[in-house]
Amino acid sequence: MSVASSRHFLQIPGPTNVPDRVLHAIANPTIDHRGPDFADLALEVFDKLRAVARTSADVVLYPSSGTGAWEAALVNTLSPGDAVLMYETGHFAEQWSELASSLGLRPETIPGDWRSGVDPAAVEQRLRADTEHRIKAVAVVHNETSTGVVSDIPAVRAAIDAAGHPALLLVDTISSLGSMDYRHDEWGVDVTISCSQKGLMLPPGIGLNVISAKALLAAQSARLTKSYWDWQPLLTAGKQGYFRYTPPTNMLFGLREALSMLLEEGLDEVYARHDRHAAATRAAVRAWGLEILCRAPGTAPGTDYSSVLTAVLMPGEHDADHLRQVILEHFDTSLGAGLSKVAKKVFRIGHLGAFNDATLLGTLGVVEAGLRLADVPHRPGGVTAAIAELTGRSGE
Ligand SMILES: *Cc1c(COP(=O)(O)O)cnc(C)c1O
Repeated sequence: MSVASSRHFLQIPGPTNVPDRVLHAIANPTIDHRGPDFADLALEVFDKLRAVARTSADVVLYPSSGTGAWEAALVNTLSPGDAVLMYETGHFAEQWSELASSLGLRPETIPGDWRSGVDPAAVEQRLRADTEHRIKAVAVVHNETSTGVVSDIPAVRAAIDAAGHPALLLVDTISSLGSMDYRHDEWGVDVTISCSQKGLMLPPGIGLNVISAKALLAAQSARLTKSYWDWQPLLTAGKQGYFRYTPPTNMLFGLREALSMLLEEGLDEVYARHDRHAAATRAAVRAWGLEILCRAPGTAPGTDYSSVLTAVLMPGEHDADHLRQVILEHFDTSLGAGLSKVAKKVFRIGHLGAFNDATLLGTLGVVEAGLRLADVPHRPGGVTAAIAELTGRSGE
């Protein structure tokens, strides 16, 4: 049994570890959200968020989880009964589609196997068949956090354009923004949806939308009921650096600090760091003789390994939740659970946010020790393989 003699080791794909710089920023005294200092804070946060999302478009922030930001994107752009084309990449895509149904939209979901990304050819085919343009939006998850699969957003954009279809493109970047290459403007996205507690290295509590000019235009005729989520009053107040209602002031202190950290490191460097840790994690999983849930790139269209988490399939009938429990008890370490369809079948190693080589080796060491303690059939040597990947030296 471990004693909690150090910080809990939180290696789930969100919420992620909050760096001390961000925690200290959040600990500042709360200020008047109608005073001049607040406007400086908010305007700086909006600018830095635009830099991270690689956009010059409007940004709206909510005191909410990511689910709120999903709802905001839908209610601001769509009307009752509108068809929305979705793609079953995994648990989060399904949740989003259920949310769309409950709002009175008609999601049409292209089925998936929970191991692959969005097949752009399937999207193009469906849109071509929609000659009356009943589909008003294509809503996809960039990084499917339940499976560790990343979809090719530029290819989805190209599919919509190839079909000559006017649908909006809505993209969930909840677990990718700030960790993996993402470009709202260049990729032609209409609404980017994200939130605070994953790549942005904050506690849960801020949701956000980045809004293209085309999405703003759609908002003018969208008839779904909305009030709290309505973009327009927030955009109007936001121009001056204010909010329509009380904003999460201390979270914004934290967000400013986290965005500064990402920009100081350099976005390309941040992405390369995540790519490298993901490659080392896959090397460990392969050395253990275990299977990665994501299909190998090239074997399924639009599919690639996530750089922020790796979902690992348990061998045979072994229970992933039992392994996670053993790891929690012995090492005070949390790993991500398998969600809905892959519950108990996979565990997820988060390697995103405030994360370095030492954290990764600690995490992989704990997983390897846990596999041994829980009697899960595997080969030792995963950590050694990860070290070889990280150092470029095989040690032989
Ligand atoms: C975490 C997550 C969500 C849900 O966000 P909440 O903050 O829990 O509402 C949605 N989509 C993806 C891809 C996620 O990783």
